[in-house]
Amino acid sequence: ALTVPDKQVDSVCPYCGVGCQLTYHVKDNRIVRVEGRDGPANHGRLCVKGRYGYDYAHHPQRLTVPLIRREGVPKRGDFTMDPERVLDVFREATWEEALEAAGGGLARIRDAHGGRALAGFGSAKGSNEEAYLFQKLVRTGFGSNNVDHCTRLCHASSVAALLEGIGSGAVSNPVMDVTRAEVVIVIGANPTVNHPVAATWIKNAVRTGVKLIVADPRRSDLARHAHRFLQFKPDTDVALLNAMMHTIVEEGLVDPAFIADRTSGYDALAANVANYSPEAMAPICGIDAETIRYVARLYATAKGAMILWGMGISQHVHGTDNARCLIALALMTGQIGRPGTGLHPLRGQNNVQGASDAGLIPMMYPDYRRVDEPEAQAKFEAAWGRALDGKPGLTVVEIMDDILADGIKGMYIMGENPAMSDPDANHAREALAALQHLVVQDIFLTETAYLADVILPASSFAEKTGSFTNTDRVVQLGRQALNPPGDARQDLWIIQQVARRLGLPWKYDGPAAVFDEMRKLMPSIAGITWDRLERDGAVTYPCRAEGDPGEPVVFTQAFPRESGRARFVPADIIPADERPDAEYPVVLITGRQLEHWHTGSMTRRAGVLDALEPDPVALVHPLDLEALGGRPGDVITIASRRGEVALYARADDGTPRGAVFVPFCYYEAAINRLTNAALDPFGKIPEFKYCAVRVQVG
Ligand code: SF4
Repeated sequence: ALTVPDKQVDSVCPYCGVGCQLTYHVKDNRIVRVEGRDGPANHGRLCVKGRYGYDYAHHPQRLTVPLIRREGVPKRGDFTMDPERVLDVFREATWEEALEAAGGGLARIRDAHGGRALAGFGSAKGSNEEAYLFQKLVRTGFGSNNVDHCTRLCHASSVAALLEGIGSGAVSNPVMDVTRAEVVIVIGANPTVNHPVAATWIKNAVRTGVKLIVADPRRSDLARHAHRFLQFKPDTDVALLNAMMHTIVEEGLVDPAFIADRTSGYDALAANVANYSPEAMAPICGIDAETIRYVARLYATAKGAMILWGMGISQHVHGTDNARCLIALALMTGQIGRPGTGLHPLRGQNNVQGASDAGLIPMMYPDYRRVDEPEAQAKFEAAWGRALDGKPGLTVVEIMDDILADGIKGMYIMGENPAMSDPDANHAREALAALQHLVVQDIFLTETAYLADVILPASSFAEKTGSFTNTDRVVQLGRQALNPPGDARQDLWIIQQVARRLGLPWKYDGPAAVFDEMRKLMPSIAGITWDRLERDGAVTYPCRAEGDPGEPVVFTQAFPRESGRARFVPADIIPADERPDAEYPVVLITGRQLEHWHTGSMTRRAGVLDALEPDPVALVHPLDLEALGGRPGDVITIASRRGEVALYARADDGTPRGAVFVPFCYYEAAINRLTNAALDPFGKIPEFKYCAVRVQVG
């Protein structure tokens, strides 16, 4: 029988950027079940993570008291998680003692070495208000722009290309617009696994006649629903996309009026793609010329065509070039600015859009005002009452390098787990261990927290109220359903307590007060009041004035660039940083799996999800596995120049020959020990989707 709840609390899902609305059923301060709600992105639907991924909040490993590292205990970058040993490494402390140690240590480094000797990582799992306050703390309390979060690891290159090309890093149309399109291209994304409810809308659209094109080196479940599936060779996105554009130009399928009225730079783009005929690109990308031409015609001639993409596009050293090609495709055919068209980079975390909007990135203040733009600096100096550093800060991977170059000496990390999520994770762990002072605020003793000097026990998603912005630019309310366990505290309170120790006497009495300050500084959300969020539960931005309904489809009249025109940026083929060779002959592709979320800190502590996928796996083509002398279920070892892991082989004929796919959620086989930290020069995103490894059975 179902447990009768004490209360029901409406909130949003803590996992992916789709932003499904849900209701927590709570009994005795425990969530007993979750139901989908009629939100704009899900209309009652939830995936397995949203429905079953809640009991991490009650897990016995939750941090419930502040911890301070015992004197003399070394920080080992290569630890294995062993909860039994926590109190050998850390001692329990009062909040007062821990906050003095946390804030005092950061202040001492700032005073001795300057603000650029400190850095902060916020979290795309936190609310807009937490992201805003965290970046404000770094900028005004530390005195630098060294603040970043996991957007650097996910869509930074997409955002770089979008800001450059069309003046806005957010999506142009909501996912649900797939139902209004005639053709939908999904490229470098596996929404069935990573954005499952969005995938259901795509599948439903196919049933009503929408032609779905799936393009990906790995065959995903969504490919079964596709009108055409293009399994191109890993790392050949630009070859494929330029060949499509070549066809569109050569066959006169461009939209000349749109190009003339709304864009600039077309001639250079057309001249560049002239070098990329489908016939010449077919052997490079592995898709025959006629298929490339067919798909290009289909996209260009559709009444409405939409492109959705994921990290298969963005996580390359040429990620920005990949996204530039997608933008150019939409612009040359006029497939943007109307319902059922547009560009949609599928956002990963549930608040990666909002955290970026709120300024949790090293080169931008809130609302994407550049920190090195004097007018923007003056605006935020006036608002925050402090002199600000006009130099853009360092990004996630750059911060790790700077620590080991004896630059950054102290960090404050809230809700991020770079020891698992950063590329070349051994290098990242070494850097974190080398810090003079590391403060980690989290709900579990993560692999990163294990390297901390001070650990501040924080609140889980269901234990606080805040606003979250989904992939569709919809701002929604997550509401508190539980009290934090033990002496754990809400993140907004903790940030303010640390801020006080840095000389910032803030006193925000809740998320509404923070949000109110945000909307006064961010024209894009100026029309969204907290009352309206509480009443409506969801409001789309841009929403510039109260009463403004918000704009689900943007760029209908002009692009938000000074000229009002979008800009074509040509791209040429740049190879992956590390190619397979005789010693490391296999391509490693990393990503996620349906049941687990990112570094696994929450989902691996959720009973149902952990039961469904309890062990680390690597997906290998069955013929490759046979050639290795292995069988499904065998332990295999994967090694790169940077490290090695052992995990279980799973036969998967969707994985291309010569490649292996590994989810990055398993701490006992942390695959990012192997990945390459080479960066895209524009978005500074690492090449998670391609590096050279060798694989052996045993
Ligand atoms: Fe949560 Fe995303 Fe699943 Fe929706 S699709 S329930 S937001 S994980």
